[in-house]
Amino acid sequence: MNTPIAAHPTLLSPLRVGKHELRNRVIMGSMHTRLESEPDGIAKQVAFYGERARGEAALIITGGFSPNAAGVLDAEGPRLDDAEEAMELKPICDAVHAEGSLICAQVLHTGRYAKIEGCVAPSAIRAPINRYTPRELSGEEIRQTIADFAQASVNAQSAGFDGVEIMASEGYLLNEFTVNHTNKRTDEWGGSMENRHRFPVEVVRAVRAACGPEFMIIYRISAADLIEHGAPTGEIIALAQAIETAGADMLNTGIGWHEARVPTIAYPVPRGAWRQAPANIKQAVSIPVVASNRINTPDLAEDILTSGDADMISMARPLLADPHFMRKTRQGHADRINTCIACNQACLDFIFSSKVASCLVNPRACHETEFHDGPVETAKNIAVVGGGAAGMAAATEAARLGHKVTLFEAAPELGGQLNLARAAPGKGEFDELLRYFRVQMKDCGVDLRLGHAASADELSGFDHVVIATGVTPRIPDIPGIDHAKVARYDEILSGAREAGDTVLVLGAGGIGFDVAEFLVTPNEATTDRKTFFETWNVDPDFSAAGAVIGDPLAPLPGGRKVTLLQRKTTKPGKGLGVSTGWILRNALRKHGVQTLAGVSYEQIDDWGLHILLDGERQTLAADTIILCTGQEPVRDLYNTLREAGVNATMIGGAEEASELDAMRAIDEGVRLAQSF
Ligand code: NAP
Ligand code: SF4
Repeated sequence: MNTPIAAHPTLLSPLRVGKHELRNRVIMGSMHTRLESEPDGIAKQVAFYGERARGEAALIITGGFSPNAAGVLDAEGPRLDDAEEAMELKPICDAVHAEGSLICAQVLHTGRYAKIEGCVAPSAIRAPINRYTPRELSGEEIRQTIADFAQASVNAQSAGFDGVEIMASEGYLLNEFTVNHTNKRTDEWGGSMENRHRFPVEVVRAVRAACGPEFMIIYRISAADLIEHGAPTGEIIALAQAIETAGADMLNTGIGWHEARVPTIAYPVPRGAWRQAPANIKQAVSIPVVASNRINTPDLAEDILTSGDADMISMARPLLADPHFMRKTRQGHADRINTCIACNQACLDFIFSSKVASCLVNPRACHETEFHDGPVETAKNIAVVGGGAAGMAAATEAARLGHKVTLFEAAPELGGQLNLARAAPGKGEFDELLRYFRVQMKDCGVDLRLGHAASADELSGFDHVVIATGVTPRIPDIPGIDHAKVARYDEILSGAREAGDTVLVLGAGGIGFDVAEFLVTPNEATTDRKTFFETWNVDPDFSAAGAVIGDPLAPLPGGRKVTLLQRKTTKPGKGLGVSTGWILRNALRKHGVQTLAGVSYEQIDDWGLHILLDGERQTLAADTIILCTGQEPVRDLYNTLREAGVNATMIGGAEEASELDAMRAIDEGVRLAQSF
C-alpha cells in the first residue's frame, strides 16, 4: 500500500510564497459565511477558521472585506476601512497561527455588483444581476480607491493577517476595469490594454508600498471571464506579468463572472474542468499560480500539481465539507474525507438568502460552536431504522460520540433516495457521500444489518430508536394512473424502466427537473471536459475573448421530446436552488424541454394525457408519463413503536416528506445524535 506521502507527494510538499513558507499546497479559498454579522461573530469565526487550520489547510483566505463604503456586497457587508474595528479580527488570526497555518484577508470591492444604492464602476453600465445602476468613478475617486485598498491592507496587517488577497476576478470592480465589456472610459483608466490594467496594477503597487516586503500579496486574477468581450488569453497573461512586476507574491485564479451564463462551480461542471486556465498563466510568470473551482479530491489536486498546471490548489467548499481534508490526506486516510458534492445548497444558496452558510454534507460548518465532540459520559444502545441520508448521519454521529449503534436497512444496500439522486447528470458526486458514510460506519463500529427489515419486537430493547424509514413516491389520483405508459421516477432513475421518445413528466419540483435532465442530457456533459465545453460553447484552449466561442444558451441537437408539467400557475422551477436552478432551467431549455404550468390532469389512456389548460381540454401524446409528484412518508413502524411505548424519534423524509431533502435529513440526523 502507498504511504500517504507517496500517494500525494506534491500536494503535501511545502512551498515558498514571497517571504513565507506554506506547509502544503492547499489554500482554503475565500468564502462568504455571514458569520461576521452574527451575535458572537468573532468567537464563531475563531471556531470556524481555527478548525480549518487544525485540519492543516496551509493558508486560509477570509471572506471579502470591502476597502470602503462603496465596495460592500450589500448594506451589511463587512469592511476593513476602520483600523480599530479591524483589530477585532486579531483573535481569528491568532487561532489560525496557533494551529500552524497562515491567514490572509481578502480585500474585495464589488463594483457594479454591490447591492446598494450608489454603487460604482468604471462606466455606468448596470450588471444584469443587480437592480442598481452604478455611477462612473471619477479619476480622483479611482486614486482614492487605490489608497483605500492600501489602507485596508495596512489595517489587516496590524490585526495580524499575514497578507491580503486582492480580489480582481468574478466581475468585481478591478475585473470590470480590465475589459471593454464594462470599461468604456476614454481617460487614462480605459481604452488601451495598458490603461485598462492600470487600476489593478496601481492597487498592487500601493499595497506593497504601504505594507512592506514581508506582507503576502495574492492577486486573484480572472483566468477566464466567460462573458462576451471578456479578456483573451494574451491580455490575461499581460496583466499577470504586470501584477507580478507590481509586487504580488502569488496569483490565485477565478473563473467566470457572476453574470456569466456558463456554470463554473456547481455539480454540472466536471471536476477539474478549468485546469487549463491557470496553466496558461503559469507558463508566463515566475510567482506561484493557484488553480481553483471544482477540485474536490486529493487525487485530482495532486494530478493538477504534478502535471504542472498550477503550484497551489485553492479549495473553498471542500473545506466547508471537511475541515480536516489535508490532515486526512497527510495521514493516508483520503477515503475518510467528507467530499464536497458541489450542490451549493447550504453554502451559496444560504448566502444568497441572507442566511449563515453551512454545508449539506457537514451541518457543523459555520455552526461549530453548537456541536460537541464527545465522547459521551453514558453510552446508550441506539437503533437506527433506515439507511438513507438521515439514518446514516444519525448512526455515524451517534457511534462517533461513543454510543452503541445498530443500523437496520431493509434494502440490500445503504443509500435510500441517494441511490436515485445519484443517477441525475452531475449528481454522481453523491457516490462520495455514500463512500464517506460506509467508511465512517466501519471506523465507528456501527453494527450494520443490511437486507433486514427491523420488527417492532426486536427494537423494544434499545434505549432509543431512530426512525429514518424515508418515503415512498406519491401516486396521484388521476383516472388511468395504472396505464402501462405510466412510470414512477424511481423506476426511471434506477433503470428499472426505460422512457420512450415522447415523455410527459408530471410534477416540476426538484425531482421532476432532475428526471427531465436525466432524459435529455448525456452524463458526459457533466463529467467530460470536452463535452461540457461543447455544451456551453466554451473555448477549450481559453484563448478566445472571455473564453466563449458562441452563445452559451444556444440550442443543442434534439433528442427526446420532453414536457414538464405542474398544476401550480407559478413559474416551473421557482423552488430550485438559487445558484443551481438557473443552470438546470437553461440546460433543459437548450435541449428543447417544454414546461406547462397551471395544468389539470384529467385522464390517462392510450391517446396520452388529457389535460385542462387555460379552460381548454387538450390531449398530450406520450410514450411515457413519469410521475414526479412528490412523496408520502413511511411511518408504519414508528406508529407501532409509539403505541408500544418505545422511545422513538422520526427524522428525514419519514418526519416531513413534503420537504424531503438530503440537507435537512443529514442535519436532523446529526443534531438528534448530538442530543443522546
Ligand atoms: P416537490 O418539490 O414537492 O415536487 C413535487 C411536485 O409534485 C410539486 O411540484 C407538485 O406540483 C406536484 N404534486 C404534488 N402532489 C401532487 C398530486 N397529488 N398530483 C399531481 N402533482 C402533485 O418534490 P420533489 O420534486 O419530489 O422533490 C423532493 C425534494 O427533493 C424537494 O423538496 C427538494 O428539496 C429535493 N430535491 C431538490 C432538487 C434540486 O433542487 N435540484 C432535486 C431533487 C430533489 P403541482 O402541485 O404544482 O403540480
Ligand atoms: Fe459543497 Fe454542497 Fe457543502 Fe456547499 S453545501 S460545501 S456545495 S457539499
